[in-house]
Amino acid sequence: MAIIFVFIDGIGLAAARSDNPFAITPMPFVAGLIGGPLLIDAVGRHRQALLQAIDACFSVPGLPQSGTGQTALFAGIDAVGMVQRHQSHFPPTALQQTLRERSVLRRALVHGSSTFANAFDGGFWDAIATRKIRKSASVIAAEGAGVRFREIADLESGDALSWDITNDVMHARHPERVRSIDAYDAGVNLARLAQGHVVTLYETFLTDLVGHGRSTIDAGTVVTRIDRLIGGIVATMRPQDSLVISSDHGNFECQSDPSHTRNPVPLLVVGPACDTLHEVQDISHIADALERVMRPE
Ligand SMILES: [Zn+2]
Repeated sequence: MAIIFVFIDGIGLAAARSDNPFAITPMPFVAGLIGGPLLIDAVGRHRQALLQAIDACFSVPGLPQSGTGQTALFAGIDAVGMVQRHQSHFPPTALQQTLRERSVLRRALVHGSSTFANAFDGGFWDAIATRKIRKSASVIAAEGAGVRFREIADLESGDALSWDITNDVMHARHPERVRSIDAYDAGVNLARLAQGHVVTLYETFLTDLVGHGRSTIDAGTVVTRIDRLIGGIVATMRPQDSLVISSDHGNFECQSDPSHTRNPVPLLVVGPACDTLHEVQDISHIADALERVMRPE
């Protein structure tokens, strides 16, 4: 049994509109799972998958943000209600210890091992050390679980993924070592490396960057990458494995506005976890539900 938890930053579920890339660019692999595009009207239980529209706003006014949203998602706590605001970028200081102790990566250790599939290069750790950037929720969760951080060598051997799915950014930084790959192959790599762990977390924030207009990559290319990533995972996972995909807030699904949205976010599940995760109503429910899915190897 393995849970492959894919966190896609900043994707909401909305209707088919001309500014929603999920309505414009075909997603053949996703359509094979939910019968059509990744839109609000595809919500429901399908033969092979479950698609739920779940809340990320918690009745708190304003636009949902990554700091509190990701803490809610990974730690299974009502982070927004606890600090009574939506905090952007990084987890609220007051909640970081809880994130370390209550993340899905940490909870999995009772049943076996967990891992963080993303690779980081030396430049990332230098930027953390010199305080150019702060630790994201995922990095804090991984530290709290004591998991090994994957490196460039892991990307070279196909034993890690990069945040942009296809390794293009890491290839530009390390052209001698890292090659770009098809998003489908990244999915194959993810499902394969997940087989040795109870929970494997992978995160991509390409969607949020594009939603904010801070990337030169066009939205259609991003949709195709996500679709092919999912295609590679589903083709490779074993019958006992579950794929769980969710987000922290909407953004990308409304390209006419560079801010986040209050749209519900998708919870897309493939595999045995569908039977448990249909109870999930908001992003703070996922970690508890995943804990119920975990079983000793
Ligand atoms: Zn954002």
